[in-house]
Amino acid sequence: MNYRIEEIAACVHPVEVSLHQAQQQIEHVLTDSRSLTDATTTIFFALRTMTGDGHRYINVLHEHDVRSFVVARDAVLDDSVLADSNVLYVRDPLEALQRLSGAWRRNFTMPVVGITGSNGKTTVKEFLYQLLSYEKKVVRSPRSFNSQLGVPLSLFKIDATDEVAIIEAGISQPGEMERLQRIIRPTYGIITNIGQAHQENFIDTVEKLDEKLRLFKDSERIVYRADDAEIEEGLRRNGLFERAVGWSTKNPEAPLFVKEMERETALTHIECILDGKAYKLQLPFTDKASLENAMHAFLLLWVLSPDLPKCAAPHLAELEPVEMRLEVKEGGEDNLIINDAYNNDINSLAIALDFMQRRALHAGKRRVLILSDILQSAFLTRNLYRMVADMVKRYECDMIIGIGRELCAYQESFKEIEGYFYTDTESFLRSSLPGKLANSVILVKGARNYRFETIVERLAQKINETVMEINLEAMAENVKSIRRHIPQGVKVMAMVKANAYGTGAYETAKMLEEHHIDALAVAVADEGKELRKKGILTPIVVMDPEVNAFSTLIDYNLDPVVFSMSQFEELYYKIDKQGFDHFPIHLEIDSGMHRLGFSPQEAFAVAERISRQSVLSVRSIFSHLAAADEPQNDEYTMSQIKVFSEAYDKMVAVLGYKPIKHILNTAGIMRFPQYAFDMVRLGIGLYGVSPTPEEKLTPVVTLRTTLLQISDMPPGSTVGYGRHGLLPKGGKIGIIPIGYADGYDRRFGCGVGKVAIRGKLYPTIGNICMDTCMIDLTGSDAQPGDRVTLFGGEAPDLQELADSIGTIPYEILSHMAMRIQRIYYRG
Ligand SMILES: *Cc1c(COP(=O)(O)O)cnc(C)c1O
Repeated sequence: MNYRIEEIAACVHPVEVSLHQAQQQIEHVLTDSRSLTDATTTIFFALRTMTGDGHRYINVLHEHDVRSFVVARDAVLDDSVLADSNVLYVRDPLEALQRLSGAWRRNFTMPVVGITGSNGKTTVKEFLYQLLSYEKKVVRSPRSFNSQLGVPLSLFKIDATDEVAIIEAGISQPGEMERLQRIIRPTYGIITNIGQAHQENFIDTVEKLDEKLRLFKDSERIVYRADDAEIEEGLRRNGLFERAVGWSTKNPEAPLFVKEMERETALTHIECILDGKAYKLQLPFTDKASLENAMHAFLLLWVLSPDLPKCAAPHLAELEPVEMRLEVKEGGEDNLIINDAYNNDINSLAIALDFMQRRALHAGKRRVLILSDILQSAFLTRNLYRMVADMVKRYECDMIIGIGRELCAYQESFKEIEGYFYTDTESFLRSSLPGKLANSVILVKGARNYRFETIVERLAQKINETVMEINLEAMAENVKSIRRHIPQGVKVMAMVKANAYGTGAYETAKMLEEHHIDALAVAVADEGKELRKKGILTPIVVMDPEVNAFSTLIDYNLDPVVFSMSQFEELYYKIDKQGFDHFPIHLEIDSGMHRLGFSPQEAFAVAERISRQSVLSVRSIFSHLAAADEPQNDEYTMSQIKVFSEAYDKMVAVLGYKPIKHILNTAGIMRFPQYAFDMVRLGIGLYGVSPTPEEKLTPVVTLRTTLLQISDMPPGSTVGYGRHGLLPKGGKIGIIPIGYADGYDRRFGCGVGKVAIRGKLYPTIGNICMDTCMIDLTGSDAQPGDRVTLFGGEAPDLQELADSIGTIPYEILSHMAMRIQRIYYRG
C-alpha cells in the first residue's frame, strides 16, 4: 500500500478534513494499535467494534509518533493530537477502510481469485497458493482474514509485482457479501461447499448460498463441485451457471472428471481427466475434505491458465497441511515458543512477527526468530532477503537464527542484529545454541521440508539433556543396610533437608514413608510445608525453624527444634496463645559441634523451665557429632557422646519423662552403632555415599548429559575462557551442556573433572563455562548425541569427584541446580 494522505482523503469521502502534512506518504494501515511498527508512514483507522473502540488508542499512538488518523465524525480529539496530525472525519471508519482498499485493488489488472463457502476456504487458498507459487508471484489473504475488516487488510497487501491474488471472503449476515464483492471484484471464484456454519442470521441455506454467490456477480469463471446439487441449483438460480466450471467423480462430461480415488494409509492416488488430458496424481492425505479442497485448487489452476495443471501436478504430492493457528508453547528456561513450522513466505512471516510482537506477556523477553530459507522463486533472492532483514528489524527481533543455504549466503543482510546461520536444521540442533536460548520468545518459522517441528520439540521440552537419575530402590536398600547396623527397635529419622540433598524431597520422602521411616527432618518450615501439601504424613522435624514460621509449624503439623532459651520463650508465648498444650518440640544440646544448641551447663535450668509448663512437651533430646567420620577425632567424638548423655540424664531427672535420645549421623551409625540410643539420623548414607571407605552403600544418583557437538582443533588451539585449555598438537573437543550454573563446579575445569562416554573416561579441557563445558575427545570415537555420564555409573563416584576438588559429596549433590531434571526410577 502506498498513498499520499491527500489521495486517501480524496478516496474515503470524509465529512471533514484537517491536514497538516498533505504530502505525507502512507504505507501501512493500522486498525489494531498493538501492531504498530513504522509510525510515520502509518494511518490509523479508529474502528468501533463489539469489543472495543479504536478512538481510545489515538492518544497513545500519537505519543508513538503516528500522525494520520481516520476517525468517526463525532470523535473528539485532544488538542495535542489535532495540533500536528492529519485527521479525516468519516461517517464510518470501517466503510472508509473498505473504500480505500477497493480503490487500491482497482489499480491492478492481475487475476484475483475470490474464495467463499462454508468450510475449507483457508485450506483451498493455501493449497492454491502452494501450487501456484512454483510458477507465479502470488499474494493471498493472511490466515483467515476474510471478514469485513480482514478482506480490506488483505487487499492492501497486493502490489504491482504480484501475478495472482487470492482473497478469501466470509460472511455471517445478509448484505455483507455485496460489500466484499465491491472491493474484491474477483476475476475467478471458488465456492467450496455450503453447510451449517454461520447459519444464525439466515433463514435457510438457500438464502445463505445466494448471499455467498453474490461474490461472483462479475466473475468470469466459478469453480465448484458439480456433484453438489444444492450448489449447482444455486448457480442456476442466480444466473451464474453459464460461467460455472465443475469437477465431478460421477460425470465424465465435467471439465475435471475424477475417475479413480484409491486411498492408502497416508496418501491417496487419483486418476482424473482434465480438459481431455489424463493425470495421475498423488495426494499426501486421505480425508474427504482435503481431497475436495485439493480438487478445487487443481481445477482453478486450469481456469487461470490451461498449462498450469501440468506444471503443478507433481507438486500435489507435497501439499502441506494448513495450520490455522500459531501455536504457543511453554519451553524450558522461561522460553515461550511460537510454532509456525509449516510454511514460510514473506506474508506469513509478517503475520507471525506481528503475532510475536503483540503478545504483551512477553514483556522483558528477548525476541528470537528461527527462520528457514524462504522458498519463493518469484522474488530475486537478494531482494527477498533484504525485505526479510527489514522486517526483522522493524519487528525488533534481538536475534535471528537462519537455517538454509540461501540465508547462509545472504547473512550479510542481517548484520545489524545478532545472527547465527546454519546450512540445515540438523547442524543447528547439534550446536550448543538450542540449549542456550533462555528467557526468550522464540518464533519458529520454517518451510515444511526443513522439519522445524524437530526444533519445536527440542525447545518445548524442559532442556532435559542433563538429567539426574535417582534410583529410589537403591535408597530403600541403603535404609535397610543402615538398619542392620543398629540394634533392633532403634528408630530412624531420615534427613531430607535441602531438597533431600538435591535429589528431590518429595519423591524421597514418599519412598521413605512407604518403607515406614520413623521421622523426616527438614531444615526450614517451608520445606516441611511442601511435603505436607503433597501428602506426606510421617512426623517432620524442622531443624532450624525461623522466628516467623510459627504459624507454618502449627498449620502443617511440623515439630520445631528448640536450641535456645529465647527461642523457647517465644515459641511458648505463640503456641500458648493458640491454646495448644503438649505441642511437641525437640531439644538440641551442643556437646561440641558449636553450632546450635543449649550448652550442657544450661541443661538443668532449661529442664526446670520446661517442667513448669505443659504447652510444649519434649519429644526428643539430641546432639550432633562434629567429626564422626574422622578416626583421628574419635576421642573428641567420645567426649561429645559423654557430655550429651550426662546432659540428657540431668534433664530427664527434672522432666520426669524420657524423651527420645539421639546423636548419630551416618558416619556415627557406621562407626559407633553402640551409641544409637533410641534413634539415629540418617543423611548422606541414604543417598548412597558411605563415609567409611570399608563400608559400601548402594549408589543412588547418576548425573548424565548429552554430547552436543564435536569439533576438530588445529595444532596450537586454545579452548574456553582465559584460553586455559591448550592443544599444542591439536585434537578433538566435545561440548556438553552443563556448567557451573548447573552445579558442575568450576574447579572441575582444566582436566580435573572426568566424564564417561561409551565406557571410557575423558577429561575436561579449559575452564568450565556457566552453562557448558568442553571435554578433550582426542582419539575417541564419540559421536554427537552420545550419552555422557558425569558421576555415578561408569563415571567416578561422588566421593572421588569431591576428593578431586577438595570438597565433600554433600556439596556437589546439593549444588545440583533445579533446572536439571530429576528422573526417578526403581530397580
Ligand atoms: C544433616 C544432619 C544430619 C545428617 O548427617 P549425615 O552426615 O548426612 O548423615 C544429622 N543431624 C543433623 C543435626 C544434621 O543437620
